[in-house]
Amino acid sequence: MGKVIDAHVHCSDKRKDDGLRGYARLNGLRYDLEELLEKMLEHGVAGGLLLSPPMTGGAPLPNEEVLALCERSRGLLFPVFTVEPDKAALRDALRLADGQRGVVKGFKVWLGYRRVYASDPVYSPLYDYAEEHGLPVLFHTGDTATSDGSLAHAHPLTLDEVANRRPGLKVVICHMGNPWVLDTAELLYKHRNVFADMSGLVVGGGAYAREYSRTIARRISEAVYYAGGADKIFFGTDYPVETHESGLALASMLKVAQADRERILWRNASRVFGI
Ligand SMILES: [Zn+2]
Repeated sequence: MGKVIDAHVHCSDKRKDDGLRGYARLNGLRYDLEELLEKMLEHGVAGGLLLSPPMTGGAPLPNEEVLALCERSRGLLFPVFTVEPDKAALRDALRLADGQRGVVKGFKVWLGYRRVYASDPVYSPLYDYAEEHGLPVLFHTGDTATSDGSLAHAHPLTLDEVANRRPGLKVVICHMGNPWVLDTAELLYKHRNVFADMSGLVVGGGAYAREYSRTIARRISEAVYYAGGADKIFFGTDYPVETHESGLALASMLKVAQADRERILWRNASRVFGI
């Protein structure tokens, strides 16, 4: 399939309190660093952005551990720091990132799990820093993995206000805002610096698994047509939420030109994240 960059990966290596273990079991994955690196090599994934998984207590894996895992990844993984909507946590994350300039490739914000809007002033120092250093901010959008998540806060259209106010900030809408993929397409079309990743969209099986995959592939393709191109969408697995096999199968189902598939699979991420 050619070169691939995975713009959305989770791993805590062997921690038992990793909140994504249930997905790993569902997908028959061991879910540790070695398996992840093996899968990447097996599927031609030349690089991946590593994001904190949520731990069972609700906190993200500490950014220091994300950094340490990337250091052990033989050059395959690049850190993205998760930033909590709390003054002290935010300051710590930015300080840690500033000591790792050139290493840290972006920031991640949870929204629906924290019931905070992306436009909340608590994130202002983060956006200032990210904008100054050209680092993208990734937002969890759309369906929340837990039934008590807040969809109002996780809706992709909430990012319109941030993008209006900060045209220089690179905003990444994770999971295409699923199921609000067309809303995401409008943001891609409207804002020069808004991007989206297609990670974590194919989860588990079920009676309509094949039809669901076709539906999602069609919706992403329609977002490409609506936005007038595919230069702002990134491939991602959300490992262990989605396997490399199902993520790449979804990418192969997109009804787009081969050049656009390449943009989605690696060229866009390489350009925007500098990997
Ligand atoms: Zn994720």
